Amino acid sequence: MKIGTPKEVLDGENRVAMTPDSALQLQKLGHECLIETGAGDKAGFSDAAYEAAGVTVVKTPAALWKEADIIAKVRIPTDTEAKRMREGQTLISFFNPAENDKQMDALAKKGATVVAMEMVPRISRAQKMDALSSMANIAGYRAVIEAGNNFGRFFTGQITAAGKVPPAKVLVVGAGVAGLAAIGTSTSLGAVTYAFDVRPEVAEQIESMGAEFVYLDFEEAQQDGAATGGYAAPSSPEFREAQLKKFRELAPEMDIVITTALIPGRPAPVLWTRDMVEMMKPGSVIVDLAAERGGNCELTVKDDKIVTDNGVTIVGYTDFPSRMAAQASTLYATNIRHMMTDLTPGKDGAVNHNMEDDVIRGATVTHAGEVTFPPPPPKVQ
Ligand code: NAD
Repeated sequence: MKIGTPKEVLDGENRVAMTPDSALQLQKLGHECLIETGAGDKAGFSDAAYEAAGVTVVKTPAALWKEADIIAKVRIPTDTEAKRMREGQTLISFFNPAENDKQMDALAKKGATVVAMEMVPRISRAQKMDALSSMANIAGYRAVIEAGNNFGRFFTGQITAAGKVPPAKVLVVGAGVAGLAAIGTSTSLGAVTYAFDVRPEVAEQIESMGAEFVYLDFEEAQQDGAATGGYAAPSSPEFREAQLKKFRELAPEMDIVITTALIPGRPAPVLWTRDMVEMMKPGSVIVDLAAERGGNCELTVKDDKIVTDNGVTIVGYTDFPSRMAAQASTLYATNIRHMMTDLTPGKDGAVNHNMEDDVIRGATVTHAGEVTFPPPPPKVQ
């Protein structure tokens, strides 16, 4: 099959879904690779590097979409791109099917197959294709780097001839994939790091990374938010009050707060309120990784950075993986190449879109003229 990657058209999207390395692996599966000219430029991959890896560079998006049997890209297609899709063609990209039913219907009607990367089931066997996790890992790391860039002091404590420097205090709210990456980065830079999550089972992971788990003074503390499937559920009003009370105690002490708290299918819970921001010291920094879904901090401005009257910087960017386009593209292209490995069991360039396979079935949102979203729950955990 011919796998083609177009240049991303969304403003500010620097990632690319195929790298020269991933193309070499795709060719070992018996596929041919195509790339639109300049598609890798913003991620540091030149046309020449692709050509050296055996990839055909195609001059226009129209030619790329026409020639490829499988389109691998980062973002959901725009209307113009979707119009280019045809019967029997396969798209592999982020798609957010729960919020894009019109696009899904249209592509199903055309007879195109859509594999939505965020729908890869989060089971052990599929970890190598889990693009949500690979991107969340980058976002967590970059959140700390961004915080450091806006913070006027060291993370680590130092005793120097010019004086004693106390370590920065960092609080990470939410310890999923992004939160754990932020905790690891923060402790490795030497900050005294605290972390909170509604799921009590993450306390051990947090502590094993050298951070301190924040416990609440609440009878059913940290029992309330745990839900099936490893994801959080909304907290009870009492639990939330206990959580906010604890955060109010911590706010004056924290130099950096990184929030990553999300509940599947809902707006982000507001956990860092205006009065907490007002209690923080001038020069403190908040990085809100939940900005895309409304923000965990009451004052976050999505896609922007603001400085409050009391001198607290609040970063609400939603494009952290794209800000590390080389790394993000490398990991995302690897996720895609693993998806292609499962779709090419014979390593003979022939795709077997096996809807009996839990992972392929879970990620496929349109196939054979039908919308196949939502999928049934996976059989194997
Ligand atoms: P997510 O992005 O949905 O949420 C981020 C974190 O916010 C979660 O840890 C959640 O518990 C926390 N949170 C929600 N409400 C909160 C609140 N009020 N206060 C504080 N924290 C709050 O989560 P994610 O990163 O996608 O990970 C979710 C789970 O899935 C984790 O258990 C993770 O280990 C698991 N996971 C498993 C696999 C796998 O097995 N392949 C892969 C990735 C993630």
